[in-house]
Amino acid sequence: MSSVTVRVPAKVNVQLSVGPLREDGYHDLVNVFHAVSIFDEVVAKESESITVTVEGNWADRVPLDDENLAIQAARALAKHAGRTYGVALVIKKAIPVAGGMAGGSADAAGALVACNELWGLGLPFEDLMEIAGDLGSDVPFSMLGGTAVGIGRGEQLSELPTGGQFHWVFAVAEGGLSTATVYAECDRLRAATSAEIPWPQLSDPLLEALGSGDARKLGAYLTNDLQPAALKLRPQLAHTLEAGREHGALGAIVSGSGPTCAFLATDAAHADQLATALSTTNVTRTAIPAHGPVPGAVVV
Ligand code: ATP
Repeated sequence: MSSVTVRVPAKVNVQLSVGPLREDGYHDLVNVFHAVSIFDEVVAKESESITVTVEGNWADRVPLDDENLAIQAARALAKHAGRTYGVALVIKKAIPVAGGMAGGSADAAGALVACNELWGLGLPFEDLMEIAGDLGSDVPFSMLGGTAVGIGRGEQLSELPTGGQFHWVFAVAEGGLSTATVYAECDRLRAATSAEIPWPQLSDPLLEALGSGDARKLGAYLTNDLQPAALKLRPQLAHTLEAGREHGALGAIVSGSGPTCAFLATDAAHADQLATALSTTNVTRTAIPAHGPVPGAVVV
C-alpha cells in the first residue's frame, strides 16, 4: 500500500467540569466529548523518513517539526512496533487551529490509524488507544468519536448513547487560545474568590438530553467551566455568544478552551440560517454548520 487517507473529526465539549487543581498540576475533569462533522484528513505516504506538510485552512499556524502532534504520533507508533519506519504525512486542515476543537489531537489520531495501515502493523484498536492516551488527553476521543465521557484527566473514556443527530454552528475566532493559558486563567479566577470548587459530576439532565436526542434540553444543560477564563482572556467572545442567542440558538457555549464558540440549532436548516446570520455580523468571519455525533478516525 503506497498511500492511506484517514478522516478524523473535531470535537465540542457539551459538559466540561473542572475540579480543583491537583498537586501534579492537572485537574480532575468530567469531560463530555461530542464529535462533529468538521474533519481533518491525514494522508500517509511511503517515505524514508517521518515528515509532515499541512494544506488548507489555517495551515500556516501548524508546526511542521517535532512539535506537530501527527509527527509525534507516527514516532510513538514506530517506537511501539520497535522498528524504524518512514512516512510522509499530509494534513488537510479544516479544524480551526488552537480553537478548542482538538485539531492537533485529531491529526495525531489520524496519523496513528493511517500509519498502522501503511506500515501493515495490524495493531488492534485497543493498542492504538493506549498509544493515543500517552500522546495527549484528547487523542483517545479523536480515535473513538461519537459522544463519550472522559474522567480523570479526560482520558478514561466511556461511550454515551445519543438519541439522534444534533445540529451545530461553530464561530471561528481570529487567532487561537492556548489551552494551558486558559487553565491557568481559570485557576487564577478561582483563587481570587473564596468559593469552594465542587468535585466534578456528570450531569444527569445532560445525559437524558443526549439519550433522548432533545436539542432544546441539551441547549439548556451545556456547561463549560473554562468559559469564564476564555471570556476574561477574550471579552469579545461574550458578543459572539450573545449574537448566536439572538438568532435563536438553543444553547451557546465556548468550545473547550476556546476561542471557537459553539451554538446548538433546532435542525439542519436552522444551523444553515444561523451560520449565515453569524457570518454577516461582525462577531466572526467564519461560521461553520456541522452535525454530531460522527465516528472517530476512519480510513476512507
Ligand atoms: P484542545 O481542544 O485539544 O485543547 P485546540 O483545538 O485548542 O486543542 P489545537 O488545534 O490542537 O488546539 O492546537 C494547539 C496547538 O498545538 C497549536 O497552537 C499548534 O502549535 C500545536 N499543534 C501541534 N500539532 C498540530 C496539528 N497537527 N494541528 C494543529 N495544531 C497543532
